[in-house]
Amino acid sequence: MKNNLIPRVALVFDDGYPTSSRRVASIFEEYNLQAVFAVLSQPELFNVRCSQEAGGGWPLYKELHDRGHIIHPHGSDHKNLATLEFSDAIASINNCFEEFQKNNYTLSSSTFHYPYNSGTASLNCYLLNHVKWIRVGATHNLIWNNQKNIDERVLFCTAYGPDFCDQHLLELLESSIPDDGRLLIYNLHGIEGEGWGSIHEKALRKALEKIIASPILSYSTLQDLE
Ligand SMILES: [Zn+2]
Repeated sequence: MKNNLIPRVALVFDDGYPTSSRRVASIFEEYNLQAVFAVLSQPELFNVRCSQEAGGGWPLYKELHDRGHIIHPHGSDHKNLATLEFSDAIASINNCFEEFQKNNYTLSSSTFHYPYNSGTASLNCYLLNHVKWIRVGATHNLIWNNQKNIDERVLFCTAYGPDFCDQHLLELLESSIPDDGRLLIYNLHGIEGEGWGSIHEKALRKALEKIIASPILSYSTLQDLE
């Protein structure tokens, strides 16, 4: 039986590209899984392709949420919080959290996904008063979070780009898992050429099928971490 001690794989789609997000949601629904989207409270300040005008923003987040998927905060306007003055970074985070609360999202069980996976220790302290976990540190290297990472609530992720990440992800799912490996977070953006490190639909389906069929891996939405 799959349980908490079985290594988990979470796939997180950043930035809320409207076309990709809707396709991703449909693919996950085919497998009866909840997709996880890390989104911006002011996407129009980041990329016009993610704006409400382009079919994104809060109406998209509500649609995905109503379809049963998970919406997590990824900041306000995608500025690199680690490079801002502390007070400006806090103001930006607060702006994001206020919008999430206004739209009735529960932050206390959520993960904050740093823009550019880039944060600081003092911002981590602030964030952990509001959210349950923080996601940091994308590299091409496979990083398994262990129980210590989960207990400390700072989770590392793996990503690949700017080209298609199909092969990178599928190979990672074949590689060996350390004894203390509990959680792999793979950071994605869009599909079929959209976003940094895009994935083809076919490869995404293959990855989900591998996780579902695996006797040693289980899919995670991050909401199910203890
Ligand atoms: Zn992003």
